[in-house]
Amino acid sequence: MIKKIALLGASGSIGENTQHVIEKHPDKFELFAIAGCKRYKKLAAIAEKFHVKHVAIGDQKAYAEAQRSNLFSGDTKLYCGENGLSELATLAEVKMVIAAIVGTKSLKPVMAAIEARKDIGLASKEILVMAGKFVMAAAHKNNVSILPIDSEHNAIFQCLQSGNSKDLSKIILTASGGAFRNFTLEQMAKIKPEDAIQHPNWDMGPKITVDSSTMANKGLELIEAHWLFNAHSNQIEIVVHPQSIVHSMVEWQDGSVIAQLSPPSMTFAIQHVLTFPEKFTGVDKPIDFTKMFNLEFLPPDLNKFPCLRLAREALISGGTASTIFNAANEIAVDAFLKHQIPFTGIAKLIEKTMSALPHKKAESLDEVIDFDDTIRKKATELI
Ligand code: MG
Repeated sequence: MIKKIALLGASGSIGENTQHVIEKHPDKFELFAIAGCKRYKKLAAIAEKFHVKHVAIGDQKAYAEAQRSNLFSGDTKLYCGENGLSELATLAEVKMVIAAIVGTKSLKPVMAAIEARKDIGLASKEILVMAGKFVMAAAHKNNVSILPIDSEHNAIFQCLQSGNSKDLSKIILTASGGAFRNFTLEQMAKIKPEDAIQHPNWDMGPKITVDSSTMANKGLELIEAHWLFNAHSNQIEIVVHPQSIVHSMVEWQDGSVIAQLSPPSMTFAIQHVLTFPEKFTGVDKPIDFTKMFNLEFLPPDLNKFPCLRLAREALISGGTASTIFNAANEIAVDAFLKHQIPFTGIAKLIEKTMSALPHKKAESLDEVIDFDDTIRKKATELI
């Protein structure tokens, strides 16, 4: 049977790679519904190419423009805003929802999809950092699998198939180290937004590329790994691996380490999630071991990349500390991209926000959502 997919974040880089995988296997997958925030013209082009009849647009203004345009065919249903995204993600025909909208904008649609018992392919790691406790509890209650698309977590997921989780010694989360791995602190203070939106190995959107260059991305992934694999902070080690070929590893109690390797293209992780537990021919070529290449591993520099330390502190502190880390980081990246704060100001703003607000235990998802709003206001004030 053809698996019908709802793709949230169709116009972004994960969205594009998901389309490559679907195109490669038209007998197995159908792109049934797509959603994005603002780029409705791109959504219209995707809808036309894949004959998609259900399109959600998160941004109200973009939705109104899309309705006025004649870019969508008469039999295409347009959905608007967060509620529209939730409606689209819970359509009866949809088997799996791919959550790939940057940040936490798809939290409610993903929760709705979990309640509707759709399987989730998760790229939007921020959702777990913001509200992992409630997302994982809902998935458990509804017997829904959350399959990780983030390349590291997809690798860990694959490596964990080689043993029983009770025998896990640790998770070794690899990090490329970003574009400024070899910069001095003085050089880092002068980094401009246009330098920070280029990544040496991966082709990604601006927010995650900046996150990668501050290593806040690895901090988010540390917290993401905690929720996905129920691992304690001291069971997750971060290792810099500049080539981005080993996507992560697990070490078992007997000392054996299992790694997952593939070239730095997201199609590997996306296809794994779409076809799990089966395997089919991939979109991109695998590693060619007949050509010589080196794999290096080195410890991260916590002085140069304070976001890593802050994320670890947030994870250990627990409760809403990770919610603060995530929301303050989003505000800081946005301020950096608008030239309001320097590159090194990103970590400073996160740290200030983390000390200005209480780290508390939230009793409900609504409480987390309200608090998230407070954090964003506070962080904006602190700029
Ligand atoms: Mg990643």
